[in-house]
Amino acid sequence: MGRWILNSYIFIFLAVGNFAHGWGSEGHKLINGAAARSVDGEFGVFLAYFADTLAEHGPDPDNWKKDDDNEGYRHYFDADLYADYPFANLPETEQQLVAEFGQENVQQRGNCPYYIVEYSHKVIELIKNEQWSAVLIPLAALGHYVADLHMPLHVVENYNGQLTGNKGVHFRWEVSMVDKYIKNLPQAPSYPVIDDPLVTCFKIVRESYTAHGIILRADSIARAEQPLKIQQSLKGYAPLPASSNYLELLYQESGDCARNRMEAATAMVAGFWYYCWDQAGRPTPNSGD
Ligand SMILES: [Zn+2]
Repeated sequence: MGRWILNSYIFIFLAVGNFAHGWGSEGHKLINGAAARSVDGEFGVFLAYFADTLAEHGPDPDNWKKDDDNEGYRHYFDADLYADYPFANLPETEQQLVAEFGQENVQQRGNCPYYIVEYSHKVIELIKNEQWSAVLIPLAALGHYVADLHMPLHVVENYNGQLTGNKGVHFRWEVSMVDKYIKNLPQAPSYPVIDDPLVTCFKIVRESYTAHGIILRADSIARAEQPLKIQQSLKGYAPLPASSNYLELLYQESGDCARNRMEAATAMVAGFWYYCWDQAGRPTPNSGD
């Protein structure tokens, strides 16, 4: 019994740890790496110089969750629990969000857009103070949060397909499928000019929301082809047998969606990094500091 309980705790820990990663470690590295090579001008030269560092630290915020109870809900935003699509009239500040919905609900439903705005200020301050080496990990982390908001299952209550018979789709799609089929991302040929970061985040939320149905549909198609035993194991994290064509079918039906969202994330991460430098007064970067 004790063993069972212990195993259950380990499973719960793994489960919680795995959810809401946004993109697996590899996905975050690809997005930050491609974004770092996408920005123009002297700040672009700085980012490109540190592209490997920015990529390497892309997954960091997922590791912060185990030491900080407030970290987890910064990575997602269950928009459909806050409002109906297209999510007009969402509050303009996190304080207003908390006042309207309560702290406990916000911690369950996520605050990603608001945290991106808050975190951008931190990055802007560091750049303003020309703390070039100290800003690298925060830049990488900002890229992580922006990328997470592009993951369609990060903006819906049904984040793991648990409400529609698609339980387990979150991990299979963002980690197993992405790691198997998406090995590189192009640089963003152009990136968005950000004027109002919160308005931009809400636009990302709407785009992600409209894409989430593609993933659930792809999972339903791929899942229906599997023997019952595999259908059961899809709910957990155990690797699938090599004979299973689940990931292949999932990719066939939703690979374009994954690529599109990751490429949009790349452009947007570049846009947010540029926005921070611009807001900081465009100081000349020093890669030696
Ligand atoms: Zn994350």
